[in-house]
Amino acid sequence: MRVAIIGGGISGLALAYYLQKLGVPYDLFEADEQVGGNIRSIEKEGYLLELGPNSLQYTPELETLVRELKLEQEVIPTAHAGHHRYVLRNGTYEKLPATPFSLLSNTFFSWKTRLRIFKEKDVPPADIDYETITQFFERRFGSGVLDYVINPLISGVYGGDPGKLLVHKAFPILKELENRYGSVLKGLMKHEGMHLHYDNISFANGMQTLPDAIAGKLISLHTGHRVEMITRNQGKYIVSCATTGDYDNVEYNLLVLALPALPASELLHFTFPGMAAALQNVHYPPMAVVHSVYNRHDVSHELNGFGALHPKAESPFAVSTLWSSSLFDGRCRPHEVMFTSFVGGAQYEDHALTNKDQLMECVHHELTETYGITAGKPVFQHLHFMEHSIPQYDLYIEDAHHMAEKLEQDGLFIAANWQAGVSVPSCIRHAKELADKINLKRPAPSIAE
Ligand SMILES: Cc1cc2nc3c(=O)[nH]c(=O)nc-3n(C[C@H](O)[C@H](O)[C@H](O)COP(=O)(O)OP(=O)(O)OC[C@H]3O[C@@H](n4cnc5c(N)ncnc54)[C@H](O)[C@@H]3O)c2cc1C
Repeated sequence: MRVAIIGGGISGLALAYYLQKLGVPYDLFEADEQVGGNIRSIEKEGYLLELGPNSLQYTPELETLVRELKLEQEVIPTAHAGHHRYVLRNGTYEKLPATPFSLLSNTFFSWKTRLRIFKEKDVPPADIDYETITQFFERRFGSGVLDYVINPLISGVYGGDPGKLLVHKAFPILKELENRYGSVLKGLMKHEGMHLHYDNISFANGMQTLPDAIAGKLISLHTGHRVEMITRNQGKYIVSCATTGDYDNVEYNLLVLALPALPASELLHFTFPGMAAALQNVHYPPMAVVHSVYNRHDVSHELNGFGALHPKAESPFAVSTLWSSSLFDGRCRPHEVMFTSFVGGAQYEDHALTNKDQLMECVHHELTETYGITAGKPVFQHLHFMEHSIPQYDLYIEDAHHMAEKLEQDGLFIAANWQAGVSVPSCIRHAKELADKINLKRPAPSIAE
């Protein structure tokens, strides 16, 4: 049995790694010369810039993988300040309570909203089809929590709109707590076996360390191989690459798409047109990632934290801003500070589409106002634009998930963030589970063997 994996982002790399450990033969095709997909760290003018993920939750799966790759010495936890997150309210930053329970004791919310949050434990569970995150929180906790906690968190994490994302898709843990304990609060109080919080980490030389280290272990990785066509012959898959014909005659028993929905759709056009159509509907809003560096003495804010989330109610320009130099050492020079701002996502698509110079100016202007910056311009600024950023777990993704499940009987599998969950650790966990599933499909060795 041989498996073709298309896409060398973290999903495809992790899958190849786990298959290799299990002794399952595979070929992994990646279009770029470099692996990692969304994970990309670059160095420019002495600054370490993350163009995709900036920090990862250190889940047990990630910890084990890091150990196996011998990367422990490279791991850097977020600085202590990284535990504090801020939210923009009335033009200034307020510290967000660190845990759901501290929302009750803290004065972030009025006593009326806190009382309503507390009463969540008495709200009966309900199963509502296609319930959005907004509807779920409104039903269980009241509308007081929406504007300054739920809205900014969802745009910060998913680049999403809580009024559109489905709660059982985007935050399955919340539905699980409701179903299992009758209430999210009760569930959180009891949550045996449900680990809900992990520390955040990065790597001394940036996130790219992780995909590069996995790639270094793989024996059947083919970078610079863009797959252009997939055909199916008598139940076997044949993969044709753009520039080389070297794999045209190899037949694969199983095919794994470790691709974003749109390129996956293009490849399935002829073989599985229904799935291709469903994938076309998965929405990826545009996003720009802007790094801005200032001299420390030009910034009056303490920057004692992870960063800040911007609620829609404040009509912000950026969705959120990470205080990168407060989180991790080595991002800029010691006398400087670095901000990483995310512009766009589902609630602010037009902001991401602003012309480049204007966009960078708008980011600088907003930073100037919110952090008390006296410099007329940053000492360094860099913009990275993504036409398609993060898949939205909304109504339109349902079809793609449903069909993906059905196609497994044809030997077609998915390892990608539009199915696994968007965080890097979710992609890794899903890839490991899929490797185990694929391994079970191997024919049992014959007696002669
Ligand atoms: C701006 C941003 C910030 C983020 N921040 C965080 C964060 O802080 N923490 C976190 O955990 N997650 C974060 N995420 C999410 C996370 O980075 C992604 O969900 C994850 O990296 C997706 O990995 P993937 O392998 O599923 O897909 P991708 O990374 O999209 O990889 C797909 C790969 O397929 C390749 N490919 C495409 N077409 C072909 C083809 N025809 N043939 C061969 N190869 C092809 C591509 O080149 C690419 O390498 C962020 C995402 C974005 C966009």
